Amino acid sequence: MTDPLLIPCAHCAGLNRIPATRLGDSPRCGHCKSSILPATPFDLDEANFAKQLRGDLPLLVDVWADWCGPCKSFAPTYQQAAQQLQGRCRLGKLDSEQNRQLAGQLGIRSIPTLILFKNGVEAARQSGALPLPQLLAWLRSQGI
Ligand SMILES: [Zn+2]
Repeated sequence: MTDPLLIPCAHCAGLNRIPATRLGDSPRCGHCKSSILPATPFDLDEANFAKQLRGDLPLLVDVWADWCGPCKSFAPTYQQAAQQLQGRCRLGKLDSEQNRQLAGQLGIRSIPTLILFKNGVEAARQSGALPLPQLLAWLRSQGI
């Protein structure tokens, strides 16, 4: 029996304790009853970012903007990645136009940019969109 994982809810950012064996069972949040680990990317912003960085699962962040063509063409790929990685890695999206200060703090120079956080610390960064197989291979090389 291993310790349960601490995971913020994608919807309300409240922390939940989930046994590793239950990660694939679409666990619900004890605070808001939403799906803690949805199969779709969830929105990050300046208000919830620090809370969403917490916990035991890695967090992948897609920094994008509405005016960015490559960001929009990458969205379906990112959606598919969220399905495939459900329960292993959390996938968030950060709108750099709506959250300029945070994007500045993250040192975003071009979009799309993907940043992988582990234990709240940046572990890897990728500038530019990737096709799904390359995206999954990049994450595999990071132990995901
Ligand atoms: Zn919740």
